Amino acid sequence: MNNFSPNMLKTFKECPKKYYYKYIEKISVPQKSTPFEKGKKVHALANYYLRGDDITKLEKALTAEEAQVWNMLKNNNYFQKEYVNSEYNLSCKIGEFWVGGRIDALVKDGNNYYILDYKTGAVPQNPEYDYQTMIYLIAAAKFLKTFDSLTFIYIDLKNDLNHKIELTKDRENQYINELVSICTQINKTQNFQQNSTKCKYCEYNKFC
Ligand code: SF4
Repeated sequence: MNNFSPNMLKTFKECPKKYYYKYIEKISVPQKSTPFEKGKKVHALANYYLRGDDITKLEKALTAEEAQVWNMLKNNNYFQKEYVNSEYNLSCKIGEFWVGGRIDALVKDGNNYYILDYKTGAVPQNPEYDYQTMIYLIAAAKFLKTFDSLTFIYIDLKNDLNHKIELTKDRENQYINELVSICTQINKTQNFQQNSTKCKYCEYNKFC
């Protein structure tokens, strides 16, 4: 049984054929460097820092651009809240499916919890309905069981902004329905057809 990640669901939605190449045939095509890859250093640093490791030497090795991003994150209000966990794998079962992923950090303020996601590249266009938002909020809610509030925070390190999505009861039901629906579609699919207008930017376009 698959453990569906946000990227798996996003890929299927974008193009079932791409999902087939990537997650069934497991064909990996080297890609150009992306903002996500450039942000890997900041993600690693954030994890060491939150765990309480000494990062003095690592901070000195940052480029001016990386140091600017890192300082923005370090000064972020949510990043300064009480640490619960970081680089943490969270999964949960919804209906007959497992969904999950790795969160950047979980922090809290009393019984109010915040899932942090650091973005050195673009924040999703509709963060409220991004599969990452849905899966992480549902998985964290099942993991925590009791809390006063649970909020997903995209920390936009390009523009120094926070995008907040709080889990309400309505949203929880909506997310569960949405996730069960797409996982069911994937499981039922026999013929992974092309369904994209973005072939030009697809890493498989050379042989698709
Ligand atoms: S090239 Fe187009 S049809 Fe083929 S996998 Fe990529 S997006 Fe889908």
